[in-house]
Amino acid sequence: MSALRIGVDIGGTKTLAVVLDAAGAVIDHRRSPTGFGADAVVESAVTAISDLAQRASIAPRDFASIGVGIPGRVDAASGHVAHAVNLGLESLDLGVMLCARIGSAVHVENDVNAAALGVHHLLGRPATGSMAYLNLGTGLAAGFVLDGELWRGVRGVAGEIGHIPVDPAGELCPCGQRGCLETLASGSALARLWPEGDGAPASALFDAAERGDERAAAVAARLVDNVAAAVRILVLTVDVDAVVIGGGLSSLGDRLLGGVRDRLDTGARTSPFLASLDLGRRVLLAPPEPFVAAVGAALIAQRPAPAAIVSAGLSESTVAP
Ligand SMILES: [Zn+2]
Repeated sequence: MSALRIGVDIGGTKTLAVVLDAAGAVIDHRRSPTGFGADAVVESAVTAISDLAQRASIAPRDFASIGVGIPGRVDAASGHVAHAVNLGLESLDLGVMLCARIGSAVHVENDVNAAALGVHHLLGRPATGSMAYLNLGTGLAAGFVLDGELWRGVRGVAGEIGHIPVDPAGELCPCGQRGCLETLASGSALARLWPEGDGAPASALFDAAERGDERAAAVAARLVDNVAAAVRILVLTVDVDAVVIGGGLSSLGDRLLGGVRDRLDTGARTSPFLASLDLGRRVLLAPPEPFVAAVGAALIAQRPAPAAIVSAGLSESTVAP
């Protein structure tokens, strides 16, 4: 048995995969387009795992562990994925199918949770303590790492703060509610509110705001206000040591972080309660590392594989033992 681990991050457009050594360092990586629909998604993951295993000259079943992060509602105990709309998946027993194809246990985790664990590792956060990872991607969601372990909640929706309605008169959200936080502070919100700037609308928005465009300044200010609101929600519900902001919008760097800290400090000036919480100093940016969710997926797999996935997957296995 090797000490190496494989982690795969199945995204809406690309599948990123890594090999970690025993110390948790990335020693190989791979990126490929993600297919659309159940068969293509499974094939993307199988190919990524098989290819990395071949490059390492190790059979997949001889890796210390294999983990996969994927968007949607994920039942980590059964490896089942539901409502991964961008991947064309309504319902898929991904863990069992991958286990059957690879001939080895495969852990499946929600992609934001996987990224939370990856960020926790890459930032060298302490094993005890608490961290929330706030992902500002196409959507807005958070993952919690408490004393080194993911906190998923009873139905796996812990941290889905993007669907807290904050504006009763706001936009209709795909979840069926109106004015969700995600409709105000996310990549999809930005695409609706500022549909300019090819490929980098967030940078284009902040550039325009800095040039004195009043409409851009108003949109940027509202975006930052709502990211600050997300940070406040995370601290006031779980009282985490740190809130780490990642995802596509975090590429704004200090333009986003500085604005969020400014809002939190402004709130603290008129509220002794908020001032006592030191919110501005608890918020920081994730490392600009494209493989965080793949790293996290590999680390999730350090835990024993859920027995349900192994027994069902290996009984269907097409790989010779
Ligand atoms: Zn919603």
